[in-house]
Amino acid sequence: MTRIAFIGLGNMGGGMAANLAKAGHDVRAFDLSADALDRARAAGCLPVESAAAACDGTEAVVTMLPAGKHVDSVYTDSIFDAVPRTAILMDCSTIDVATAKRVAEAAAAKGLTMVDAPVSGGIGAANAGTLTFMVGGSAAAFDRAEPFLAAMGKAVIHAGANGSGQAAKICNNMLLGASMVATCEALVLAQKLGLDPQKFYDIASVSSGSCWSLNTYAPLPGVGPQTPADNDYQGGFAAALMLKDLRLAMEAAGGVDADTPMGKRATELYEAFVAADEGGHDFSAIIRTLGATG
Ligand code: NAD
Repeated sequence: MTRIAFIGLGNMGGGMAANLAKAGHDVRAFDLSADALDRARAAGCLPVESAAAACDGTEAVVTMLPAGKHVDSVYTDSIFDAVPRTAILMDCSTIDVATAKRVAEAAAAKGLTMVDAPVSGGIGAANAGTLTFMVGGSAAAFDRAEPFLAAMGKAVIHAGANGSGQAAKICNNMLLGASMVATCEALVLAQKLGLDPQKFYDIASVSSGSCWSLNTYAPLPGVGPQTPADNDYQGGFAAALMLKDLRLAMEAAGGVDADTPMGKRATELYEAFVAADEGGHDFSAIIRTLGATG
C-alpha cells in the first residue's frame, strides 16, 4: 500500500482518487469543499485538513485543479515544503504550458521530481478509470509516475520534457474543437441540401470525412451512436471547458508565433456560444447555432 496525497477532488479528481483507493493505495485527500471531502471519505480515501497535511510522509502527489494559478499556488505555498524529497509529483490539471514548465522547474530547484499529466476523457472516464494521460517530464520521472497513472487510466503516454503533456493536450483539444465545428457544418449543409443526416453519416463515417467528432460523437440526435446529442446535450464535455482549452491553445500559439486560423475561428465561435449562456451544454450543442433541424 502506497501513501498518495490527492488534492482537488472535483468532478474529475473525485473519481480519480476513488480509483487509487480502489487499487489499494492509502489516499490522503484534500479539497477546499467539505462536500468533496465527504464524497472522498465514502470512496475510501482519508480526508485531511490541508494540502500540506496530505503531503506528510507521502510517496506520491496527484493534483487535479481548475487552472494554472491554482496549481502554482498549491505547489508553491503548500506542497513543496511539506512533501518528502523522494515523492513523485503529478499535476493532472489542464493548465497553460508556461506555468507547467515554471512549476516543474521550481520543483527541480527544490530537489523534487514532477510531471505534467493532463488527461483526455471526461467525468465518465475519470470514474471508470479509463482516462488517457499525456505526460511531460524526464524518462525517469515518467517511469515513476506511470504505475500511479495506470491505476486511473487506460493509456499513459510519455509526450516529452516538462510541459509536453500540456502541449499535447491543448493541440489535441484545438483539433477537437475545430473538427467538431466542421462536423456540425457538414451535417447541417447535408440536411439543407435534402440529404437524410443518418445517410450522410453512413457515407462520411466510412469515407475521407471520417473523424472522431463525426464517427463517435455525432452532434445530431438520432444520428450515429448514442452521444450527448441524444440526451439534449447534457453530460459529455461542457462547452465552457472546450473554450478554456481553446483559449490555452491560442495563448500557447501566440507565444511561439504559430498560425492557427481554424483554432482561432473555433475559439471565436465557442466564445460566442458560451457568452450566450450555453457553456453548461456539451460542446457538440454548437450545432444549434448553425441552423440544424431535428
Ligand atoms: P472542478 O471544478 O469540478 O474541480 C476542481 C476542484 O479543485 C474543486 O473541487 C475545488 O474545490 C478544488 N480546489 C480549487 N482550489 C483548491 C485548492 N487551493 N486546494 C484544494 N482544492 C482546490 O473541475 P474538474 O472538472 O474536476 O476539472 C479539473 C481539471 O481537469 C481542470 O483543469 C479541467 O480543465 C481538467 N479536465 C476536466 C475535464 C472534465 O470533463 N470535467 C476533462 C478533462 C480535463
